Amino acid sequence: MKAKSGDFVLPGDFLGVSEEFVPAEGAYDDDGDIKAMVVGMVSRDDKNKRIFVVPEAGSPPILKKNTTILGQIMEVRGQRALVKIHAIKDNPRKLVVSFVGGIHVSQAQKGYLAKLTDAFHIGDIIEARITKVVGLDNIDLKTSQKDLGVVKAMCTRCRHFMDQTDKNEVTCPNCDQKEKRKISMNYQV
Ligand SMILES: [Zn+2]
Repeated sequence: MKAKSGDFVLPGDFLGVSEEFVPAEGAYDDDGDIKAMVVGMVSRDDKNKRIFVVPEAGSPPILKKNTTILGQIMEVRGQRALVKIHAIKDNPRKLVVSFVGGIHVSQAQKGYLAKLTDAFHIGDIIEARITKVVGLDNIDLKTSQKDLGVVKAMCTRCRHFMDQTDKNEVTCPNCDQKEKRKISMNYQV
């Protein structure tokens, strides 16, 4: 059953199919199914074939293109680093739903990057910008700008947070391990 205007929905709820509607703000296309991205009220515009969700007052902010997020690297696998998105930068409201994003090797830094592990490791805290929202667990991110990238690097040997010691280098104060990262200008010493 497709959603009607005024329906109260939760993230992930089915709203309609992509043959009938284009997902507007607060909605996304999950392989042909249009689903809600936020908690709120459905608004259906049959004339223009658009469906969107008006977020409930006080509900968490919507993730969209160009939003800067704070997250943590969950996995670095081949061409893509997986990021658990914790919050929107400079927005104190919490994200109640768990969002997962990815950074493709071509979007990690300006210029050529031979391997993604020269930019990120599991546990790193990063700031990244959204380039595309495909679904709740499929958000494309980039860190190529100066103000984006790793803000706290985690030592792969002993799990301590590390100090920045060069443009692309961090050093562990606990075990002296040196590693490479794509470091943001906002790196927290
Ligand atoms: Zn260490």
